[in-house]
Amino acid sequence: MRLGPSLIVGLIVAGPAPLAGAAETPWSRVEHASLGKPTAIGGPSNGCIAGAQSLPATGTGFVSIRRHRNRFYGHPETIRLVKDLGKAMDTHNGRLIMIGDLSQPRGGRMNSSHVSHQNGLDVDVWLTLVDSPAGAVRAAPEGQDPPSMVTPDGLELSSRFGPDQLFLIRTAAAEPTVDRILVNPGIKRALCRMEHNAAWLRKLRPWWGHDAHMHVRLKCPPGSPHCQQQAPVPAGSGCGAELAWWFSPEARTPTASSSKPRARPRPPAQCQVLLRGS
Ligand SMILES: [Zn+2]
Repeated sequence: MRLGPSLIVGLIVAGPAPLAGAAETPWSRVEHASLGKPTAIGGPSNGCIAGAQSLPATGTGFVSIRRHRNRFYGHPETIRLVKDLGKAMDTHNGRLIMIGDLSQPRGGRMNSSHVSHQNGLDVDVWLTLVDSPAGAVRAAPEGQDPPSMVTPDGLELSSRFGPDQLFLIRTAAAEPTVDRILVNPGIKRALCRMEHNAAWLRKLRPWWGHDAHMHVRLKCPPGSPHCQQQAPVPAGSGCGAELAWWFSPEARTPTASSSKPRARPRPPAQCQVLLRGS
């Protein structure tokens, strides 16, 4: 089947959407983090977080947006990463990074937008920079995402992507606590060309959407024995054949299996205890 350009664009640049058929989850009704030692439990797509910290609404070089969702909790390593990125941006150009969803107060499944972000180690970082918290409200009003950084055909960077975006992505990739960063294939390919297959590109993983934000995932931190580490990112910059696949007709064609809801695994036992606890 050949796809018209508009469908292809939709596939490549589609942003977060409500989860099809997602039932309301009890995790979304949890209002507070649990007390005690911060511990990431399970994996990003089936886990939870005990003793989470909350990200402040603003700090040096960053502003946390859409706070009413109550998804600004994470492992202290995640909070530290956001603060470090903010400080780096502040020194770089004095502007603010907009921080999107982290995790719910105890992590777990969300009602909308994400399958992952469950164990306090994922954070969405928008690639549009702003000059003030008020600017963030204008740049990311409810129900409208900041602009895409790739062209409508999904093949190249848009004119919005500049040295500040490169700085932001490279700074995050250089952080030793960061395991991987999901970005649109169009972003990864452009950076592979620009940065001549530099080693830090390895952490950039091409994925659908992710054209207006990057999704940063941390490694399982020390002191979280039940945290489930994802399989390591393959060796090399990832700028070769694997990346080329994303631009193949196969990658750009929707399949019946990709639209089927996946069976939901049973949450780790520690998470069930955490959900019931005070
Ligand atoms: Zn994300």
